[in-house]
Amino acid sequence: MSYPDSKETVELIKKLVMIPSPSGNTDKVITYVEEFLTGMEVETTRNRKGGLIATLPGKDEDRHRMLTAHVDTLGAMVKEIKPSGRLKLDLIGGYKYNAIEGEYCEIETAGGRTFTGTILMHQTSVHVYKDAGKAERNQDNMELRVDEKVRTEKDVRALGIQVGDFVSLNPRVEVLPNGFIKSRHLDDKASVGILLQLIKQVKEEKIELPYTTHFLISNNEEIGYGGNSNITPETVEYLAVDMGAMGDGQQTDEYTASICVKDASGPYHLGLRKNLTELAEKNGIGYKLDIYPYYGSDASAAIRAGHDIVHGLVGPGIDSSHAYERTHITSIEETTKLLYHYLQSELVL
Ligand SMILES: [Zn+2]
Repeated sequence: MSYPDSKETVELIKKLVMIPSPSGNTDKVITYVEEFLTGMEVETTRNRKGGLIATLPGKDEDRHRMLTAHVDTLGAMVKEIKPSGRLKLDLIGGYKYNAIEGEYCEIETAGGRTFTGTILMHQTSVHVYKDAGKAERNQDNMELRVDEKVRTEKDVRALGIQVGDFVSLNPRVEVLPNGFIKSRHLDDKASVGILLQLIKQVKEEKIELPYTTHFLISNNEEIGYGGNSNITPETVEYLAVDMGAMGDGQQTDEYTASICVKDASGPYHLGLRKNLTELAEKNGIGYKLDIYPYYGSDASAAIRAGHDIVHGLVGPGIDSSHAYERTHITSIEETTKLLYHYLQSELVL
């Protein structure tokens, strides 16, 4: 028995965060994941929503297990082209404008061209605007400055930029020698990296899983309906692997696996939670139980959609989520270990 190599996982996460994939425009990253899996001869299918399902056959084919993680991220869309040539944005996913002030970004036109830019307060220059520090960070005051010689709306349109073009945020990923990983979109590409590495390990070690196990790489989680479909009727347990939320009063940290007991959708399945904590205790895996106050997962979305399943939520602890995030390699390792044992454990029902 050996766990997947965590340095390799971090390298994979780095590759994933660098592929732009705001919810609604995820084909590139799904193709990357698809090629990773088909390269290992893992059977995959795409759903109509554009997500990917990988299946590993298990000993018991009558009862299934399913895990999900999402590759879609926060982002934005061009809402208006201002007379000045600056772009007004509409945000994709749940976050505030202050989390992207000064951020570099990429605009992808419907015709497939890409341009770079920066998201700024209109009143940024302190040499010109007296209220630069106090003005509210909101849709009216923040705008995208395209890195092209554009002075008018017409100039921008001439580039092929139009309302509805996707804007992705630069992840600015950095892996530090002391184990910290700083990047946007660790939610939830850190978990996708973990799942892909686990699938690879199962294939390479020829591990026989107790149940047929599906992995849904969902692509609409940030907008609420990523992993709420394509759950086979045989599926008994459905585990969302998504970031653990850190902040005042939270137990979650960047060095352990976070097991969610309750979020805004209500408590997760008690039996599955107990199985996860027992697996962690038995195998010396660092974990934290926690409640995430303003959070919903693809597992709770699946329950809401009417699936009769045992649902759970576990993931690496992510600091400053939905902003400039950070975690540590030990959180990736502990989450990986927990899931490695979970994949080989008995179903709770
Ligand atoms: Zn997430």
